[in-house]
Amino acid sequence: MNLKLSDLRKEPKSLELFQKGKKTTPYGVHSNYRLTDPYPLYGRKGVGSKVWDVDENEYLDFNMGFGALVVGHAHPLIVQAISEQISGGTILGLEFEKSVELSKVIQERFNVDMVRFSSTGMEATTNAVRFARAHTGRNKIMKFEGCYHGGNDHILVSVKPKPGREGSPQHPIPVPASLGTPRDTLKNTLVAPFNDLEAVREIAEANADDFAGIILEPIPMNMGVILPQKGFLEGLREICDQYNSVLIFDEVKTCGKYYGGASERFHVTPDLKCMGKAIGGGFALSAVAGKKEIMEEIVPGVVSHAGTFNSNPLVITAGLVTLTRILSRTAMTGLAKLGQTLAAGYNDIVKDEGLPAIVSSDSLSGALAFAPSPIMNWRDFQKSDIGRWSLYYLMMLNRGIIPAGTGPDEQWTLSVQHTQEDVEKHLETFKEIAPALREFQPQMAIVEAI
Ligand code: PMP
Repeated sequence: MNLKLSDLRKEPKSLELFQKGKKTTPYGVHSNYRLTDPYPLYGRKGVGSKVWDVDENEYLDFNMGFGALVVGHAHPLIVQAISEQISGGTILGLEFEKSVELSKVIQERFNVDMVRFSSTGMEATTNAVRFARAHTGRNKIMKFEGCYHGGNDHILVSVKPKPGREGSPQHPIPVPASLGTPRDTLKNTLVAPFNDLEAVREIAEANADDFAGIILEPIPMNMGVILPQKGFLEGLREICDQYNSVLIFDEVKTCGKYYGGASERFHVTPDLKCMGKAIGGGFALSAVAGKKEIMEEIVPGVVSHAGTFNSNPLVITAGLVTLTRILSRTAMTGLAKLGQTLAAGYNDIVKDEGLPAIVSSDSLSGALAFAPSPIMNWRDFQKSDIGRWSLYYLMMLNRGIIPAGTGPDEQWTLSVQHTQEDVEKHLETFKEIAPALREFQPQMAIVEAI
C-alpha cells in the first residue's frame, strides 16, 4: 500500500478551519512557515511548556513560537506586567518613557553602543543592510546560502535554492527565494558558502570596490543548528576590517539562545547586530544595535529608520520583564544544561537504535537531521532525508510532542517553563518511535507505526 504521511493526520477541526480559512487566506495561514502537510494546525492556547489545538489535543511544545518564547507561554510575570500596562494605552505616538531603560539593558547585555527598536526580525535586518550601505556608500551585501533573514528582497536570496540552479559550492549563484524579486536587486547580493572562509575571501576580493558588508546568522538556525567552524567568524571579522565593510550578525534567533547572544558565545564583535524573537518575551520587539559611528548616522532626512509600532508601551514592557526578570544569566545557564540533557538523550537514542541521523545542538537549541554526515552548510543540508524527518515530526506530534519548528531546517527551543520531566517525556517518545524511523523507506506503508 502506498500511503502519504499526510494521510495520517488526526485533527478534524483544524482541517475544517483550513477548508474555511483558505477561502479567504492563501493556504489558510498568515505565514508560510506555519504550514504543515496537508493542512496547518490551528491553535487555541498556550500555557507554560504546552499548547492546545482546536481539537483539544495537548502538546508539549518545543517549537516555542519558532524560538520567540524562551520565556515559555503566558509567563506569569509577563501576563501581570502587560495586564497592568494595557490600561495605560498601547501606542502613545510619543516615545514611551521606558524605552530609555530597555535601551540601556540592551546596551549592557549585548555589548553594543546604541540601539534602535522595531517590531519584526525582517525590519531589523532590512534596516541593518541599509545602515551598512549608507555607512560605506557601497551596494553589495554578502549573505550565506541557506541563511534566512526575513522577507527583504535584497537578502531573500539563496535561502533554499534547489539543486541544479545554485551554481558551484564555492561560488553559489544568487537565486531569489520568491517570484516577484526584481532581477536588478540580485546584482547587489553576493552569496557565499557557510564555513568556507577561502570562498568568502575570493568573493570579497572580486567585489572589493562595492563591498558594503556581510550579513549572517552566526549560528545558522534556518538549516537546523550549524556551528561555525573554529576561526570562521574571526575570519569574517578580518575580511570586513580589510575592506572597511560592515559585519552584521543576524541574531534574531541567537540573541535568545545565550545570555549575550552568539557574539558573546564566540567572542567576535560585529559592527551591527539584529535582534528579535526572544527579547520581546512573545511580543513583537526587534532591534538593530551596534557601533556608535554607524548608528549615529541615523539622522532624520538622511538615513531612514521609522515605524508606527516601534517601541510601543506593550513591547517595551514585555522586553524589560523578559530581559531583567526572566532570562537572567542564571536562567540561561540552567536552560543550557537542560538543553545538554535533551541533546545527549537524542544522541544516545540515535546510537542505540542505529538511526542514520545526526544531532546538532548548542545551548537550549538542537536539531535532528537524517543526514549522512555533520551539516556544515546548505549543500550538506540538501543531502538530508526530508521524508524520514517528516515521519519523525508527525509521529511525535501524534504522541503529543511538537519536537521542533515545522521543518528539518528548524530546531527545538527550550524555555524557562520546560521541566526535566518535559525533556524526559520528549526523549521517551523519541525512543518509542525510533524503530519506525529506522525502518522507514520512502514508499512504505507506515500506518501501524503512526
Ligand atoms: N532572521 C532570522 C535568523 C530568522 O530566523 C528570522 C525568522 N525566522 C528572521 C530574521 C525574520 O524575523 P521575523 O519573522 O520576525 O520578521
